[in-house]
Amino acid sequence: MKKKVAVIGAGASGLMAASIASRSCDVTIFEKQKKIGRKLLATGNGRCNISNVNISPDRYHGGNKDFVAKVFERFGLLQTEDFFRDLGVPFIEEEEGKLFPASLQSSTIIKFFEYELIKNSVDIKLHRRIDKIIPLRSGFKVITAGMEEFVFDSVIIACGSCAYPQLGAAKNVYDLVASLGHSIVEPFPSITPINIKLKSLHKLQGIKWDCRLRVLYDNRAIAESYGEVLFTAYGISGPASLKISRWVNEISLKGEHSFIEFDFFPELSVEELQSLLAVVTADPQKSIGFSLLGILKERMPDTLLACGGFDPLNKNFEVTKDLQKIAQLLKGFIAPVGKCRGFDEAVVAAGGVAVDEVNPLTMESRIIKNLYLTGEILDIDGDSGGFNLQFAWSTGAIAGMSQ
Ligand SMILES: Cc1cc2nc3c(=O)[nH]c(=O)nc-3n(C[C@H](O)[C@H](O)[C@H](O)COP(=O)(O)OP(=O)(O)OC[C@H]3O[C@@H](n4cnc5c(N)ncnc54)[C@H](O)[C@@H]3O)c2cc1C
Repeated sequence: MKKKVAVIGAGASGLMAASIASRSCDVTIFEKQKKIGRKLLATGNGRCNISNVNISPDRYHGGNKDFVAKVFERFGLLQTEDFFRDLGVPFIEEEEGKLFPASLQSSTIIKFFEYELIKNSVDIKLHRRIDKIIPLRSGFKVITAGMEEFVFDSVIIACGSCAYPQLGAAKNVYDLVASLGHSIVEPFPSITPINIKLKSLHKLQGIKWDCRLRVLYDNRAIAESYGEVLFTAYGISGPASLKISRWVNEISLKGEHSFIEFDFFPELSVEELQSLLAVVTADPQKSIGFSLLGILKERMPDTLLACGGFDPLNKNFEVTKDLQKIAQLLKGFIAPVGKCRGFDEAVVAAGGVAVDEVNPLTMESRIIKNLYLTGEILDIDGDSGGFNLQFAWSTGAIAGMSQ
């Protein structure tokens, strides 16, 4: 008789685990929502940023990088590309090494997984939330919210995290695992917009500008990013801010304070920017604020100058001294970070199941035999750009291969 395997959660890692396990086992996949892969469908704005050519443990945070390294040694990008090519989904590469399915549609991935599951006779049970997993002397009893009971030889928990509840995520996934004896590192939102406490900066709402951002904490820079920043009514969003959000969120949830330093001209040195300022402010009839419209977008000169203590209407500035200070301001504009934004805006949750309790070569729990954990429920979070889905594919595949 074939081994009976339950997969809890039909998201990225659960679909991967079920596809592979069903090559040799009798698999049932439970999904609490009406459809499989709801979050997966929303990934990459519906295009599914499926992985990244720059996959490396350095792009992951939380638990421990050795764990991530071992996972990728067992099932890395190459194996993932092979898997999807066999499924009928070649990848294409875009900027920053981001990989997408050639169709540029996440719906393709879901349809092809569904095809694979049906082909391998997987029992797909939708609208079934698993509320309890009870270890038996041999195997597990799995109980749904509707009190249906099933018995399996092994269980793969692929329930995801509590990030983005609009797509069905919920905090109770951690209770399910904690009830089995696993420790949970308190989850917190990652890859989110950032609140900025400096209200006058909110006047830049709607403006997009390429910046270098540095997170300042405890008198040192602990993270940095480069890219587009979107100024909002509360602070900042856009790729560069999403990239550093993990660090500012972790600090603010500890009740401590960090600052963001904006470099509005990352391609220029202070001296080069000072020379450029001298060129655009050459006309003595123009105020400094009006002159700076030559190199900044509307509202930026007045807002940034005022925040730095300069009068934007001033026409009598000192070319050497004032322009040097303005260049320094535009290359090192410091603003305090406000409260962490919520899980409803978080692409992923940092924190989760402690990874020293899971074997990275099999994804089996070190606490309960034949119990496996995959994907975002683990205390590993990746950078934005395809890193989180890659971790879900790899851990799901390893759990599937280990059945
Ligand atoms: C808007 C958005 C865009 C994103 N875009 C990208 C991207 O382009 N690239 C990238 O790398 N990452 C992206 N991510 C992150 C990525 O989607 C996740 O890291 C990944 O889906 C995690 O996979 P998972 O299998 O762990 O969990 P999920 O994919 O979240 O799947 C978990 C599944 O389990 C189900 N479930 C939960 N509890 C139960 C239960 N008790 N019983 C039954 N079922 C249950 C859930 O309904 C869900 O379907 C994005 C996230 C969001 C929110």
